[in-house]
Amino acid sequence: MTSLPKEQSKRRLGLVIDLDICVGCHACAVNCKEWNSSGYHAPMTDKDPYGHDPLGVWFNRIHTFEETTEAGQRTVHFPKSCLHCEDAPCVTVCPTGASYKRSEDGIVLVDESKCIGCKLCSWACPYGAREFDDDAGVMKKCTLCVDRIYNENLDNETRLPACVSTCPASARHFGDFSDPNSNVSKLVKERGGYDLMPEMECSPTNKYLPPRPRRDEKAADGSPPQRLEEANPEGGFLGWIDDLLSD
Ligand code: SF4
Ligand code: SF4
Repeated sequence: MTSLPKEQSKRRLGLVIDLDICVGCHACAVNCKEWNSSGYHAPMTDKDPYGHDPLGVWFNRIHTFEETTEAGQRTVHFPKSCLHCEDAPCVTVCPTGASYKRSEDGIVLVDESKCIGCKLCSWACPYGAREFDDDAGVMKKCTLCVDRIYNENLDNETRLPACVSTCPASARHFGDFSDPNSNVSKLVKERGGYDLMPEMECSPTNKYLPPRPRRDEKAADGSPPQRLEEANPEGGFLGWIDDLLSD
């Protein structure tokens, strides 16, 4: 079995994902695949991609749910990739040391040269974040674009995980959670960022920001939507659209 670093790393790099504004466009998943298909874990095998039973290695997957609330239904898009857990069971279960957590920044990686393809790590991960490459016979996963964020050949603006740099809605944020003044720490504090499935006791580094209440949520009790009234006291919908666009 493999040990985790004895002390918490000085830097804790990870993502904040805003479920309020993710539009489920899959741009992050596609750019992740594009970057990593020629990077650290290349190639990312696809089988029968346009057939009836497509199979492929995707480090980032978007799940879409319909949620029913008192005010009605809404759609929530939920992007999921490795959360670079502090207490990562995928590491401690690994019999060869192939799975490991970096002591310098907390990123969880797989050393393919040591992986025997036993899949114990994918069974141990409660989030389903591991990806087995059938052709290569080894386990792969999100690397937080380790070959991009430290790449000194790139300018500073580009040294972000591919998923973050491509999100058209700015629903993804990258930073250091060990710094209370970092962008990600502030977002978590201001918006009530939370751990995914805390009962699994993995202490995930990545955090999610919950969807905000719907604008018309107060209409559930039969009264007019509050924001609609505020935006356009004379009725009609143009004032409401102005308000929406200026937010
Ligand atoms: Fe391991 Fe899964 Fe946590 Fe990633 S999300 S560190 S694969 S347990
Ligand atoms: Fe370790 Fe590879 Fe087995 Fe996963 S599949 S537990 S990385 S040897």
